Amino acid sequence: MSDEKLIRLTGMLPEEISEALSLKAGFRGKQIFKWIASGVESFDEMTNLSKDMRVDLSERATLRSTTISEKLEDPDGTIKLQIRLFDGMCVETVLLTDADGRKTACVSCQVGCAMGCAFCQTGKLGFARNLTADEIVEQFLHLEKICGTLDNIVFMGMGEPMLNLGAIRKAIAVLTSAEGRALSPRRITISTSGVIKGIYDLADNGPAVRLAISLTAANPDLRTKLMPVNKANPLPELSKAIGYYIEKTGKRCTLEAALLGGVNTDAESARFMKEFAGTLPVHINLIPWNPVEGLPYHEPTTKECRAYIQMLENYGLQVTQRTRRGRKIGGACGQLGKTCKTTAD
Ligand code: SAH
Ligand code: SF4
Repeated sequence: MSDEKLIRLTGMLPEEISEALSLKAGFRGKQIFKWIASGVESFDEMTNLSKDMRVDLSERATLRSTTISEKLEDPDGTIKLQIRLFDGMCVETVLLTDADGRKTACVSCQVGCAMGCAFCQTGKLGFARNLTADEIVEQFLHLEKICGTLDNIVFMGMGEPMLNLGAIRKAIAVLTSAEGRALSPRRITISTSGVIKGIYDLADNGPAVRLAISLTAANPDLRTKLMPVNKANPLPELSKAIGYYIEKTGKRCTLEAALLGGVNTDAESARFMKEFAGTLPVHINLIPWNPVEGLPYHEPTTKECRAYIQMLENYGLQVTQRTRRGRKIGGACGQLGKTCKTTAD
């Protein structure tokens, strides 16, 4: 547990570090920033600072407001960390390794989620609070410490990114800074349940990252039932916002669809998908539903998935099915947060 009086540096840019610590020499902020990005967890490791300075800094500031409270490993290589925040609440963060060995951090941006998607574990928790920029960056740094250099970061963990865009922007600014970790924006994806205002905000004000939209269903009534966000963010306007994002940023967009057995895999669902996606230069990524205790859904069969993919492909849509990873440790899409504490100490 960190001391709440300490200045938390991990979500700050070099100038902010200098200012927060009242450092006279500007280059000190840059030095500290660089060390933080390299993953050090104590001021003592900052060997280009004097011993006195290191002692002084450790009395005033901290590099970690979060700790790893649990680490689980799936036989498929997926790692899930439960991260305890300064106030005792928890989030989860996942490392996924693909067939080519590329490593992706799937980070959380909120404790719980307010969107209430009917098929998601995190949605069951309800919303507790937004994460701060340092709490987001620390998830990435905790994973890098355990797994080595990561290739990508996806905002597909707990929470709705568009409702915490300020902190996410800041975390991305820190992680992409050339003076620090220098992660390329091309390696960053934000996934939204379809908050239209956020899509325009991101398109207009950046950063220009990859965007994924969790469509799930393009039948308006079914989508509203599964994803209440659809009421205030209807499909025609969502489609316009996605088109705007693609035009403005030149970035590719993905439509994600969790496949619920017997619910959104029929010919009508495919037709609605074609209607929605057919006019956009997008790619569809299907995610067979990952079980969540107590929810009234079941996994689609392999045959059902294949048939649905075939229908979409027959419409000329570009489709892939996401490889299932992390299910044995509750670390797959939509499974995060089951044992997370969502109240403060
Ligand atoms: N909140 C953001 C990002 C996190 S959810 C969003 O909804 O986009 C990541 C993805 O997992 C989303 O596409 C979501 O629709 C999907 N998902 C949620 N619950 C799922 C489950 N039980 N099985 C499979 N996918 C699920
Ligand atoms: Fe929230 Fe995403 Fe889960 Fe919906 S799918 S409840 S937006 S985390």
